[in-house]
Amino acid sequence: MAILGESVCPYCGVGCRLRFEGTGGKVLKVRGVEHAPANLGGICAKGAQLGPTIDTPDRLTRPQLRQDRRQAFQAVSWDHAFHDLAAKFRRILDAYGPEAVAFYGSGQLDTETVYLVGKLFKGHLGCNNTDSNSRLCMAAAVAGYRTSLGSDGPPVCYEDIDLADVIVIMGSNMAEAHPVTFDRIRANQKRRPELKVVVIDPRRTATAQAADLHLPVAPGGDIALLNALGRLLLHMGVADWGFVDKHTRGFEEYRLFLQAQDVDELCAATGVAKEDLARLAQLIAGARGFLSFYCMGLNQSTVGMWKNNSLINLHLLTGQIARPGAGPFSLTGQPNAMGGREAGLLSHQLPGYRTVEDDTHRRDVERYWELRAGSISPKVGLTAVEMFRALEKGQLKAIWIAGTNPAVSLPDLHHVRRALERAELVVVQDAYHPTETSRLADAVLPAAQWGEKEWTSTNSERMVSYSPKLWEPPGEALPDWQILAGFARALGLKGFAHANAAQVWDEFIGLTSRRPCDMAGATASRLRALGSLQWPCPTPDHPGTQRRYLDRRFPTADGRALFLPRDHRAPREMPDHEFPFVLTTGRLYAHWHTLTRTAKADKLVRREPCPFVEINPADAATLKAAEGELVQISSRRGTVKLPARISTAVPPGMIFVPFHWGDLFSDGNAANYLTISAIGRVAKQPELKFCAVNLEKAAVPNPQSNGSSRQLLSLPLVEPLVAS
Ligand code: SF4
Repeated sequence: MAILGESVCPYCGVGCRLRFEGTGGKVLKVRGVEHAPANLGGICAKGAQLGPTIDTPDRLTRPQLRQDRRQAFQAVSWDHAFHDLAAKFRRILDAYGPEAVAFYGSGQLDTETVYLVGKLFKGHLGCNNTDSNSRLCMAAAVAGYRTSLGSDGPPVCYEDIDLADVIVIMGSNMAEAHPVTFDRIRANQKRRPELKVVVIDPRRTATAQAADLHLPVAPGGDIALLNALGRLLLHMGVADWGFVDKHTRGFEEYRLFLQAQDVDELCAATGVAKEDLARLAQLIAGARGFLSFYCMGLNQSTVGMWKNNSLINLHLLTGQIARPGAGPFSLTGQPNAMGGREAGLLSHQLPGYRTVEDDTHRRDVERYWELRAGSISPKVGLTAVEMFRALEKGQLKAIWIAGTNPAVSLPDLHHVRRALERAELVVVQDAYHPTETSRLADAVLPAAQWGEKEWTSTNSERMVSYSPKLWEPPGEALPDWQILAGFARALGLKGFAHANAAQVWDEFIGLTSRRPCDMAGATASRLRALGSLQWPCPTPDHPGTQRRYLDRRFPTADGRALFLPRDHRAPREMPDHEFPFVLTTGRLYAHWHTLTRTAKADKLVRREPCPFVEINPADAATLKAAEGELVQISSRRGTVKLPARISTAVPPGMIFVPFHWGDLFSDGNAANYLTISAIGRVAKQPELKFCAVNLEKAAVPNPQSNGSSRQLLSLPLVEPLVAS
């Protein structure tokens, strides 16, 4: 077996660097790279099973178009596809203006691609309707960091795990969703018995089972819990007054806010015993290094930004930030969700952590792109959920979707389907076809995936990594950035004639110079020589920065971080007599997002072959539903039928459904047929973790259901379900 090379893993935001070995063009073995800072040789099952996902019968190899969605797709040349789509876009732009088009991308896209998307849509077309599935993952974390600390981007790094003595994991099932980072915590638990790990989660997840203390917060009770903790810490007199005085603003308001809170009432709202909260407060009070990890459980909420602010308040109160082993660490779900933020993919952003609303920021970028003043609109564009609402209403006419599968991952899927059916033009750029989304498209464009191109990405700890091309893409598939550049040139636009990915990268980092995410020193040639560098990295001789704010100056107007008092707010749709249960959704260890890749790896499918509903034994008994029997779950938006997995991991009154299975694998039974599309006021992140549902025992399977992802692999349909 020969070594084919190394690449960053294309799955989660841990950003493991993997080494691929194989023969005859096939990947047969994948290992973690020992010296890679993100994983130190670690790897999880998803990374290890990348081999079977590369050369599959559903890889897209040629551009395909159809003029009518009742017709089959016809393969065409790239030249034909670019000019056909450019003519269609031009007609829509001329008839309806720039706000009639949109780009919906992904944290899977590399930074080179995301940068060119912004240059094309925000710069040349004057349309800020570019957003990403990162909106579903971490928009609240972006807004939380920005409002509390003055800038997006985590202050911490993975090495802080080795230095912290209290780690709080809140709203994150790291053991399944970020396994290699969790393995580092587990290794520290074994090596350092003084390390205490506390998990705050309504479910007794695999992560919670490994904790020293699990606080099963009531769904939606996070802010109340964090305020109760703040109140207890204040009462204990353990605030770091020196830090608070010199480096923060708004403490007095926060103190008065907390003092007006009744801890018993807060505890009632959290569903957690006061003694357990007091124990956590004592752990934090005595910690040398208090490190917190958080993810979708905080972010996927209509008050996700407030939850982030409330957690950061605790770090500011105790001075547990801006020093090794301490700080708030937002985990990113995708390999380049961070790069998307840095290059400005979200609808309010411009490259270099700039915003479209800021006059100076727009002028900076217009000058850099050699555009006339006023080319970039000051109006924030549509966000993910808003785009699909606008499509359904006919306000948005065309959408270009790349590297994501919204017909599975967005909330309220019946509405998403209607929106795509209503669109005049749907372009899907992906490595695979069909997906649930590409089935509804007018054009499908073949993208080269991770091992088939040069690409750059940023992981959860701000580590910018270069991945080389390891083998040829299938057929005529092209790197995503080349597809966007070819389309831009067909529109007659200048500024898209880059010869290679390095040229795109070097152009992009110029826009980060002297910005908080300064990567001006992480040039393409340095990254190709070193593999990775952690930003800020302002000059070509700079070694990169492990931790931010060590000088205790935050990027706010006066250099101080902000206390932001936030009240408990109930989720948008509370249970009632008609829909008395709470549905929460999430991920499983074996699968990734919408199964586009992981359903092709037999070993992963064997581990988790079917969708299911996790239900407490008491609720199952009331329904008279036994293990594996079908339960009908209804919300105000849809109905699905899933086999019961009976488990005390969920409390009575709450169910859990993994969101991975879409219509290709379990027709009509995707979790997101049930979820609510309510979004937060600032972050605009949908409330995927909470909606009200009703349960009944189902008499017969859903008539459209094919039951299992095993169908794709022609494997036996029946796999015994095991209670977790
Ligand atoms: Fe890939 Fe994440 Fe697993 Fe690492 S932990 S191998 S990045 S899926």
